[in-house]
Amino acid sequence: MRNFYSIPRHELEHRCREAGLPDVHASTLFKAAYKDLVNDPWNASSLPQKIRASVGSDLDIALPVAAKTLVSRYDHSVKFLFELRDGSLVESVLMPERRRITLCVSSQVGCRQACTFCHTGRMGLLRNMDAGEIVGQLIAANRWIANHPDWLAALSLPRLQRVTNVVFMGMGEPLDNVESVADAIAIMTDPLGSGLALRRISVSTAGHLDGLAQMVERHPDVRLAISLHSPFDAERSKIMPINRRWPLAEVLNFLRDAPTQLNHGILIQYTMIRGVNDSMRHAEELVRITAGLKVKVNLIPLNEIDPSRFASPTANAIDSFRDHLHQSGLRVMVRYSKGQDIAAACGQLVTENASASGQ
Ligand code: SAH
Repeated sequence: MRNFYSIPRHELEHRCREAGLPDVHASTLFKAAYKDLVNDPWNASSLPQKIRASVGSDLDIALPVAAKTLVSRYDHSVKFLFELRDGSLVESVLMPERRRITLCVSSQVGCRQACTFCHTGRMGLLRNMDAGEIVGQLIAANRWIANHPDWLAALSLPRLQRVTNVVFMGMGEPLDNVESVADAIAIMTDPLGSGLALRRISVSTAGHLDGLAQMVERHPDVRLAISLHSPFDAERSKIMPINRRWPLAEVLNFLRDAPTQLNHGILIQYTMIRGVNDSMRHAEELVRITAGLKVKVNLIPLNEIDPSRFASPTANAIDSFRDHLHQSGLRVMVRYSKGQDIAAACGQLVTENASASGQ
């Protein structure tokens, strides 16, 4: 059965017309579901009573259920462990920042890319999530915020009541599931629904070139993040198998030629791993290969999951790396992961049996 939250508004409008009903009902359904966050949008007061039977009899309205919710005592971030309709588990992380509330969503149960330093990568891919399961994480998070005024109050963000930004940086490679992710983005940005601005949505990829081309075609102005992690081809292939299929240079060339992306810049994610990619040689090459691209670099010190294989860089290595990028004119930030006490950090999102090893 398809899920109500998988359906873009234009499809609901089409369904209404097919049923001989005015298509404005689709707008009412969208407002009820995504703005008012009601439990059953089909019951919205101005809708004809039998609308569900004629328009949505083949749709269920189940949402991901939070099987566990952990609130960090350090930084107020919230980790949700969501159970999907078939019992699969995925994670999302809510991260309050100065002027925004960012939700990090999952797009797949597990991941097929098998980056060697990433916990999710070790699970393998169990299945793709559908658009409704992706959008459902946003609805569930917004409902959680609505039900926790004390959490909001503690943030001193007086006028924010909802998630303001969504990043596809949870479990999965979003561009391996590009259609559902693109549909989910269309639903999240619908002005009659959650109404997020496209520039407030970031899709992060390990470098999936086919998916990138499709994404840029569907949503030319979505923000893109590239998980780069090594500027040297052979070294990158060792830690990120996807590089053998789509070498980094090809991905960067594609972005260089995609003029829309240059308008707001591309985020480079660079997880620093001791002795693997944290030397001056790497910093210098990173500057060289990103020349001509408008980029911002986030340096993420590795969150250790198996310290005997991969360790975090020293503070000195981080500083020198950052200083070199900075002096070369790149915008650079060191990003320490949020939610350290609730295992909500980058690369720590893992569910099912694999979770025994690291949390
Ligand atoms: N598959 C997408 C989305 C995942 S985003 C992508 O690769 O971009 C999660 C980010 O955290 C990626 O940049 C990933 O490489 C990084 N990451 C994975 N494991 C990590 C770890 N143990 N410590 C720090 N960052 C990690």
